[in-house]
Amino acid sequence: MVEGMVCKTRGCRRCCLETEMMLTEGDVARLESQGFRKDEFCFESQGWLMLRNVEEHCVFLSGDVCTAYENRPDGCRHYPFVWDEEYENVVRDIDCPYHNEFRITKQEEGNLRRAVKALYREREERLLRS
Ligand code: SF4
Repeated sequence: MVEGMVCKTRGCRRCCLETEMMLTEGDVARLESQGFRKDEFCFESQGWLMLRNVEEHCVFLSGDVCTAYENRPDGCRHYPFVWDEEYENVVRDIDCPYHNEFRITKQEEGNLRRAVKALYREREERLLRS
């Protein structure tokens, strides 16, 4: 989440429910360094590394608390900004009930574009290896 205050003030955890989030190798390494086991929080689908859900929420969500907050995936840090594959652009996810309260900066947009490039590059490499 880019502006965690909005989420906190609103008591919103919408983005942690029924996630469809891809993970970078860096995300996985950070989470493993916190002691989480890769196969417990991640699965592979069509070359993507995906964040696991349990009972329709992110595996790291416990009550209202993200147990991986310090090491949370890049996708969580960027949310509600997401990549629009069709238009190859950064957009606000309208599934976030407060998406209109977020403003993107050039720096944030650049960071998200780099993260998306890394995701695609890593997927290509994974598919080539398999
Ligand atoms: S890692 Fe944390 S912030 Fe990200 S979806 Fe899971 S519970 Fe939410």
